[in-house]
Amino acid sequence: MNQIKVRFAPSPTGPLHIGGARSALFNYLFARHYGGALVLRIEDTDVERSSREYEEEIIASLRWLGIDWDEGVGKGGENGPYRQTERLPVYRQYAELLLEQGDAYYCFCSEETLEEERQAMLAQGETPRYSGRCRHLSEEERASYLAQGIKPAVRFQVPPRQIYVVDDLVRGRVSFESDGIGDFVIVRSDGLPTYNFAVVIDDALMGITHVIRAEEHLSNTPRQLMIYEALHFKRPEFAHISLILGNDRQKMSKRHGATSLMQYREMGYLPEALVNFLSLLGWSPEGEEQIMDIEQIIAAFSLERVAKSPAVFDLDKLNWMNGQYIRRLDVEVLAERVRPFLMASPYRAQVEALSPQHYLWLVAMVKDRLVSLSDVVKQVSVVFEPVSYAADALEVLQNENTPLVLQAFIASLPESLEPEAVKQQLKMIGKQHKLKPRDVFMPLRCALSGQMHGPELPSLISLWGKEESIKRVQHSLEVLAGK
Ligand code: GLU
Repeated sequence: MNQIKVRFAPSPTGPLHIGGARSALFNYLFARHYGGALVLRIEDTDVERSSREYEEEIIASLRWLGIDWDEGVGKGGENGPYRQTERLPVYRQYAELLLEQGDAYYCFCSEETLEEERQAMLAQGETPRYSGRCRHLSEEERASYLAQGIKPAVRFQVPPRQIYVVDDLVRGRVSFESDGIGDFVIVRSDGLPTYNFAVVIDDALMGITHVIRAEEHLSNTPRQLMIYEALHFKRPEFAHISLILGNDRQKMSKRHGATSLMQYREMGYLPEALVNFLSLLGWSPEGEEQIMDIEQIIAAFSLERVAKSPAVFDLDKLNWMNGQYIRRLDVEVLAERVRPFLMASPYRAQVEALSPQHYLWLVAMVKDRLVSLSDVVKQVSVVFEPVSYAADALEVLQNENTPLVLQAFIASLPESLEPEAVKQQLKMIGKQHKLKPRDVFMPLRCALSGQMHGPELPSLISLWGKEESIKRVQHSLEVLAGK
């Protein structure tokens, strides 16, 4: 096989969403698996809805995910420019060729005329499509329109009674009849090319061998094939990847929660977890293993194992996976990754006041409890918030043995505390007083934090230090005594 070349071609009309990210990722995986190249092309011909801000956000999202490309916007290359609005002369040249060949014609129809035609067809129970009324304009008619200052669009003349067949690498053989398709605009009256035209010119000139994109573009494919044929371009292979549905089997939308990649970043998802999760939206490896790093995914990826049926976006699975990735990080690494979330939290000053060692204790203490990085704020709150006693914790405090345990704790705390040493100390208290570990840990936890649940108690005590820990225990004794 020749060198494989694929592209990701987003329209910068919004941020990068889950669906777009999955398309970008599949292209990336395919390119890397076969040692091919990935092109990033910006399809910004919808100038009203496109913006540089969105383009930048899309690029930032790709970079955050670790999806890099070999050629295109931000990288350069031999087939540039890679922003469609900078390629208008190229499209014009091919539109002129099609006009000369008789495969396209000028269309002077106004919006109103087109709308009237549409309504008339609908009223007849027909599927609306262009009637072809400008197909056979005489020279005089054309000259008269031009003299009136009407700017024409260019329409592609759809060949009649043709069958267009795509052997889609995911969907299998799909056929389309040309008779169902009206002559379509390839260059609008403002000189901008339409998607179906520009995409073909670019894919052909950029040497794209495989077009891997969302299923919604399958119905555009016959129009594109017509242009490939008319221009004698070699057509690429196509692979249309299925929709992504929410848990309720409806098309993914805002109702299903965050959709843009930057929102996931802000919520504290790890890009490596998200990449792993996205890779499984429609693709499955051979084995049972779900947690795979990018190198493993690249090695295992193939279009043969991409499913035809829609993928379901399961947030619980993403959360599980993110937690798994967090557990696998070294505490030093995790400490850096949660830092921005803590710095943006109400505990910023307290966290900044911690020594490096205490900061690592803090992070190690909550590591197993995080679903996302942003959870760190809630999880460390117990360290920094004043104690308030939950009803069940107050009950525990009223147990017979509680005062004994609390007194023993106050009496036995050494000056300098390190989580492992504190743990041993608490065990010692149990041994001395013939109490089960739980009967030592639970009253202490309730006295110190006011809660029956929370992060590891020895670490909490280490973080509070001797003075604060004793103060908290004494406070609970006062509360118990009804003061
Ligand atoms: N700009 C199109 C989109 O964002 C690209 C479609 C394609 O990959 O051909 O949907």
